[in-house]
Amino acid sequence: MTEVKSFTHRPYWWADARFEPDRFSEKGLPPVQADVVIVGAGYTGLSAALTLARAGRSVVVLDAERPGWGCSARNGGLLGPSFHKLGLAGLSQAYGAEKARAIMRESMESMHSLVSFIRDEKIDCELNMVGRFRGVAHPGHYDSLARQVESLQKDLGLNAYMVSKANQHQEIGSDLYHGGAVYEDDGSLQPGLLVQGLLERAVAAGAKVYSKQAVLDISGQTGALEVRTASQTVKARNVVVATNGYTSKNLKWFRRRLIPIRSAIIATEALSEEKIRELSPKLRGHGDTHRLVFYYRPSADGRRMIFGGRAQSLKENPAEYVSYLSKSMRRVFPQLGDASVEYGWSGVVAYTFDHAPHVGEVEGVHYAIGYCGSGVGRAVYFGRKAALKILGSPEGRTALDDLSFKSRPLYNGNPWFMPFMIRWHDFADRMGW
Ligand SMILES: Cc1cc2nc3c(=O)[nH]c(=O)nc-3n(C[C@H](O)[C@H](O)[C@H](O)COP(=O)(O)OP(=O)(O)OC[C@H]3O[C@@H](n4cnc5c(N)ncnc54)[C@H](O)[C@@H]3O)c2cc1C
Repeated sequence: MTEVKSFTHRPYWWADARFEPDRFSEKGLPPVQADVVIVGAGYTGLSAALTLARAGRSVVVLDAERPGWGCSARNGGLLGPSFHKLGLAGLSQAYGAEKARAIMRESMESMHSLVSFIRDEKIDCELNMVGRFRGVAHPGHYDSLARQVESLQKDLGLNAYMVSKANQHQEIGSDLYHGGAVYEDDGSLQPGLLVQGLLERAVAAGAKVYSKQAVLDISGQTGALEVRTASQTVKARNVVVATNGYTSKNLKWFRRRLIPIRSAIIATEALSEEKIRELSPKLRGHGDTHRLVFYYRPSADGRRMIFGGRAQSLKENPAEYVSYLSKSMRRVFPQLGDASVEYGWSGVVAYTFDHAPHVGEVEGVHYAIGYCGSGVGRAVYFGRKAALKILGSPEGRTALDDLSFKSRPLYNGNPWFMPFMIRWHDFADRMGW
């Protein structure tokens, strides 16, 4: 494996002086009582906190580390509808045509509602609705992608179209792909600044956000719950679990239903604007049809390539994933030559056994969780839905409400099978399946 000499092991986004989550965290101990306690201060938790605090509830947010520590300030910042992996046809088979359409429509709605929210609230997070190009990794994938795009256009009005291999240089400076699809309405943003925007607004609305308060236990019953950390026990009428891929082992019911997977990203050194335009002429977001998908985009200043993919193991091993991603990035863009990698980092996403996020309530504890690696739009959206459910609002309903949130026999939250799955998907990618 190629060795990458030296890089900063930290998200590129955190180098932005506007990202200052510590400034908005409370000092001292959480209070002993609140209307609602939220566990986790990422997009889900902060979006729920904002909605509840604006509705007049007293809200305490507890994070084991600090706001944005999880995926929310580590992700690639690619914003899209995050359609269910099964697509319309697979979902129709599983749940019927009407439910399938409602789930797919809600995915689009989650993206549009985040865009409106950012614009209405004037959140400065480098939102740029530049669209996305998804490259066809194997010639055999082209027709099935074209069928998918056609059905999304027809059934959901998605603004998307196919691009042939002959024309793909209008979208990407790479010969690796065999054409692709353009999703015109997708976008990108600076993930840390979205955390910052949500955090500032939630705090301004009265929510109290605490760092270094790992929740060890949630006990009690509906309407009278107790949330225990090492230093405090907070009584609350309602609790929201918003811990996604970082869900700790003590939250057993959730851990048993989530499959944590590590995803990693590198950012190149600052390059010339011409070089980045050569790679991505329209500065769009990018992805491909690999099973082990790569996702990438230029930074908002148009100077760096931000390139992500699945890490090989759940353990944090920066040397391994940085060198793997660096090699993969140069396979897409050989013209990057010896441009150096300046940042490398990773985070843990949460998959579910039915590939869908879940929003609901168990023994009086609400949750919004399991975004399957694609949660920028969905986490903000479903965090708000969880809050609206607590408020008893009919707007809290979602198309996912009656999906049952299942585990598997003997699964305890340790994804021992993932290395084998990753090897299998890697093999299938090489074979073009
Ligand atoms: C490298 C990477 C790239 C990604 N790229 C994209 C992308 O481009 N587009 C996209 O749509 N999605 C992407 N995602 C996924 C997206 O970032 C997540 O789905 C989303 O941020 C989830 O937000 P969340 O608030 O639910 O969870 P998180 O942001 O992960 O927050 C969970 C929080 O819970 C806290 N916590 C856990 N257990 C406890 C406990 N016991 N007590 C207190 N606190 C606790 C953690 O400290 C953490 O801060 C990516 C993810 C990663 C890791």
